[in-house]
Amino acid sequence: SHILVTGSTGFIGAHVVDNLLARGFSVRGATRSATKGAQMKAARPQYTSKLDFVVVEDFTKTGVFDASIESIDAVIHVASPFFYDTTDNEQELILPAINGVQSILSASAKPGSNVQRIVLTSSFASVVDVDSNPPPSFTYTASDWNPLTYETAIDPKSTSVVAYRGSKKFAELAAWDFVENEKPQFDLVALCPPMVFGPVVHPVPSIEHLNESNAVLWSVAAGVDPLPVARVPAWIDVRDLAEAHVQALLTPEAGGKRFIPASPEPFSYGYAADIMKDAFDWAKTSVTSSYKAGEKPHMSYGVDGETVARELKVKYHSFQDTVVDFVKQVKDTTLS
Ligand code: NDP
Repeated sequence: SHILVTGSTGFIGAHVVDNLLARGFSVRGATRSATKGAQMKAARPQYTSKLDFVVVEDFTKTGVFDASIESIDAVIHVASPFFYDTTDNEQELILPAINGVQSILSASAKPGSNVQRIVLTSSFASVVDVDSNPPPSFTYTASDWNPLTYETAIDPKSTSVVAYRGSKKFAELAAWDFVENEKPQFDLVALCPPMVFGPVVHPVPSIEHLNESNAVLWSVAAGVDPLPVARVPAWIDVRDLAEAHVQALLTPEAGGKRFIPASPEPFSYGYAADIMKDAFDWAKTSVTSSYKAGEKPHMSYGVDGETVARELKVKYHSFQDTVVDFVKQVKDTTLS
């Protein structure tokens, strides 16, 4: 089978590409950057005949995937803007996220398309209600939806964090609406991961170009003070998330479902700081001391990651392994 992965030269998408290649699939990566595509290919010489890249335009345009679907059997749509340094939230985050989803679904539904399934990277941002203070006994499941309205998401008074959450919610909704209204030949699976951390396998020219979620984790290693506060207490290792995407593609019963891939282990940046100080001598001086060391994080509410473990057969890394593998990689390469 031939699988199209969008966002293939980004943090999560590149891990999805590698997971598919390791299983023997042929992969077409979609990217805005021919250079990054060539770098990814050059770094995987053993897969020259199994990996190609197609350059697509920015999602500010529509119809960008029409030419990339030929001979494709399934799609993993990872690409979506994820950054907070915006000047116009609707133009830079919300509309491109929705356009990207509409472009990939309509291209995949065109006559002659052979696409059987689309796996969509949504986010826990489209699940969580950040304004509710649920009791510790409450557990978010894939049937929960963020109540954020479009009006609030695009309100110029809303922060880019709120707008990003809206971009994920309304992009995912656009996908479910498309499937319901157009009844295409493919089915849809949506994954709603919380914070994603772990080693990088995509081209990162310098530490300033780390993806948003890893950049926050790295700031701890780099000595940020005060430590960041986790907006949600849940996370997943990027390698486990890639596995969840591919399992979602290959598990017939997953069709039409929404999942939350999330480690059952709570995290905090204080816990990350402890892990770094424990594992690396250099971190004992670089990581700030102005936090309460030795305090294990606790979940202020539950997040159901068990369904993914059970139905998609995904095992979760420990936070300790994820932090150590990532920090070691950044430290050992020319990134920092
Ligand atoms: P990256 O920034 O590394 O990847 C984002 C990818 O999306 C890039 O490949 C980028 O393409 C593509 N992209 C972004 N904006 C546009 C645009 N306007 N037009 C076309 N392509 C675009 O971040 P992640 O890998 O972390 O994010 C991937 C997905 O995972 C996103 O959908 C994000 O919302 C979701 N997610 C991430 C979480 C995290 O903690 N990292 C948590 C939950 C969900 P290019 O390579 O061409 O620049």
